[in-house]
Amino acid sequence: MKKKFIYLDNNATTKVDDRVVSEMQRYFTEVYGNPSSLYDLGQEARKAIENARERVAKILNCNPSEIYFTGSGTESDNLAIKGVARRYQKKGKHIITSAIEHHAVLHTVEYLGKKEGFEYSLVKVNNDGIVDLDHLKSLIRDDTTLISIMYANNETGAIQPIEEIGKIAKERGIYFHTDAVQAAGKLSLDVKKLNVDMMSLSGHKFHAPKGVGILYKRNGINPIPLFHGGHHEKNLRPSTENVPYIMGIAKALEIAYDEFEEHKEKIYKLKMMLKEGIEKNIEGIVLNTPENSVFNTLNYSFKGIEGESILFSLNDFGIGVSTGSACTSGSLEPSHVIMAMGRDHAICHSSIRFSLSKYNTEDEIRYTIEKLKEVIDRIRRISPYKQ
Ligand SMILES: *Cc1c(COP(=O)(O)O)cnc(C)c1O
Repeated sequence: MKKKFIYLDNNATTKVDDRVVSEMQRYFTEVYGNPSSLYDLGQEARKAIENARERVAKILNCNPSEIYFTGSGTESDNLAIKGVARRYQKKGKHIITSAIEHHAVLHTVEYLGKKEGFEYSLVKVNNDGIVDLDHLKSLIRDDTTLISIMYANNETGAIQPIEEIGKIAKERGIYFHTDAVQAAGKLSLDVKKLNVDMMSLSGHKFHAPKGVGILYKRNGINPIPLFHGGHHEKNLRPSTENVPYIMGIAKALEIAYDEFEEHKEKIYKLKMMLKEGIEKNIEGIVLNTPENSVFNTLNYSFKGIEGESILFSLNDFGIGVSTGSACTSGSLEPSHVIMAMGRDHAICHSSIRFSLSKYNTEDEIRYTIEKLKEVIDRIRRISPYKQ
């Protein structure tokens, strides 16, 4: 029998929880009506998604009317950023975001800059990969309408000072969006405490399927929709609601917060075990994950070695990790996130991200440490490096 794959790439995507699959099942084959249809089979589907909306709203501490279901995290980011930038462009055409955003945010802002005459500024991060609040304040202009800063970074796990940024934005009358895709199930999503106007989530990062997202949008903000069609999701996101996936994402979010403490404790323990194992056994490393980070993510650079060669060597042992962002792996671009932290090129090319989940075990971590040491020693023997 084939050995079980050791999956340590949970910031790229996650396994769907069996309970989520069961929850979704009925909505494929039994309650398959169109929620806009007036007969019972449609209305039952309508009730189900409104119930899912209420359950999500409870976790985000907002009104259910402020929850919108979308097709992905990327779509939620695009809808929030393009929608608000375009809607309020008479007020100003300046956007602030950070140098370490996911491409779903960074490329969206760059597009608005290149094609629609917006201007944007990138907030710097410190050596820990955390945004510099003084720099942020200095970038604010009279024509700034939108700030978009992620909650937790996908490559390093660094947690950003969202509450403070929200306060700054509010004082200046600027809308604040956060890409919280990497925070779901790992940090509180209370939108009132976080002072956010809009927040993006993606199901497949917390054990729901790929292809379903959430946008929280405070009532009173009116982004211009990306699509035009029917009246679904209060005209903001037309398209027949994906009922099974909506039920799945709500269930997954509920599980993540019902079992939060248990998973946090378990996963953090595994992360610390991996951290100690690496730091005790392997020389020539640079830690790219700060103290203030989400409990599942650990990122190191291994001096003198290309991240890709570690990735493929670990794959030979049935271990899955990533070199920074999945979007840049396969290309020779160094990680823009590690670059923004002021590390030199070679360090950026040698970064490896370990991202854990509730499905990992101590045995898997022990095996990973052993194989990682073997792999690094072997590669360094072939091409010696100078420290
Ligand atoms: C994965 C990810 C996204 C994109 O979400 P999709 O649902 O895959 O489109 C956006 N932002 C961050 C921080 C992510 O990690």
